Amino acid sequence: MQDPYGRTITYLRVSVTDRCDFRCVYCMAEDMTFLPKAEVLSLEELDRVASAFVAKGVRKLRLTGGEPLVRKNVMSLVRSLSRHLESGALDELTLTTNGSQLAKYAPELVEAGVRRVNVSVDTLDPDKFVAITRWGDLAKVLDGIAAAKAAGLRIKINTVALRGVNDDEIADLIAWCGRDGHDLTFIETMPMGDIDGDRTQHYMPLSLVRARIAQNWTLVDSDHRTGGPARYVTLKESGQRLGFITPLTHNFCESCNRVRLTCTGTLYMCLGQNDAADLRAPLRADPSGRLLDAAIDEAIGRKPKGHDFVIDRRRTAPAVPRHMSVTGG
Ligand code: SAM
Ligand code: SF4
Repeated sequence: MQDPYGRTITYLRVSVTDRCDFRCVYCMAEDMTFLPKAEVLSLEELDRVASAFVAKGVRKLRLTGGEPLVRKNVMSLVRSLSRHLESGALDELTLTTNGSQLAKYAPELVEAGVRRVNVSVDTLDPDKFVAITRWGDLAKVLDGIAAAKAAGLRIKINTVALRGVNDDEIADLIAWCGRDGHDLTFIETMPMGDIDGDRTQHYMPLSLVRARIAQNWTLVDSDHRTGGPARYVTLKESGQRLGFITPLTHNFCESCNRVRLTCTGTLYMCLGQNDAADLRAPLRADPSGRLLDAAIDEAIGRKPKGHDFVIDRRRTAPAVPRHMSVTGG
């Protein structure tokens, strides 16, 4: 699949649910209204759509959400998708999780061929963890991460940089990941969906995170790439690699290889744009899959060149009205 700008699409992210057992302040409002169940694709339908993308050349699938591991029976989807790993059609099946259910699912994930997971951890302070996630329990997440490591999963920690919240913990988070052998990537907040507070208040450009790190370590730019938007540095003193995802201060669109499917079967060709394609109607209208294939081709044919995210104090509305939990980040 090639888009109009010559980019080959090899990566599909699938939000399997918009629901979550946390209410992170930068991601959701506390009293979120979730989609009625009838609008959500069944696990079999999600498998059909994801498999159609694999047949068209997608080599990497990431399940996300919402919290993917709170979707009922999600492991049956993981197990059925793993047939594409066995056939060699897929290089990687992975997920992004808040870690709350990892202790329960880690061994099954490994059995299904999952090798790496991304876990979101913004703080190692239990009280701050509650302040950020509203409903989360840090101890449970850390247990989940330990269980995942014990089961043989590689772990990448994703940390959203929040000024005045976790900027004093950057060195601790780096040291923790260094000790436990986790990769670590810092992310800037993106203006997606209404939340209860003011996002600009805690927005922290990653140039500031880098400056903080430079107080303790020497950062060496690395040409390591994972096919994603992260840029990497190596810490000279420890050899540790750190990633930075800077959608606002740095444009990563020119190498974009991905599209995103919501749990209702809407395909977003860009995280930062509103244009989308409905795949649910063609999926349901035609069991042969031909209409679905045509709808996918048509959608890829209008993947936009890039996003226009701006976090701007003068603008109160988010740049993109949907929440990150709809498209999964
Ligand atoms: N629930 C899972 C989790 O938290 O990892 C998966 C879904 S969550 C939407 C995926 C990632 O998006 C998380 O790392 C989260 O911190 C990040 N995220 C959510 N809202 C964001 C925002 N407005 N700006 C930047 N990152 C955001
Ligand atoms: Fe849930 Fe993940 Fe959003 Fe937090 S960031 S509310 S864990 S979907």
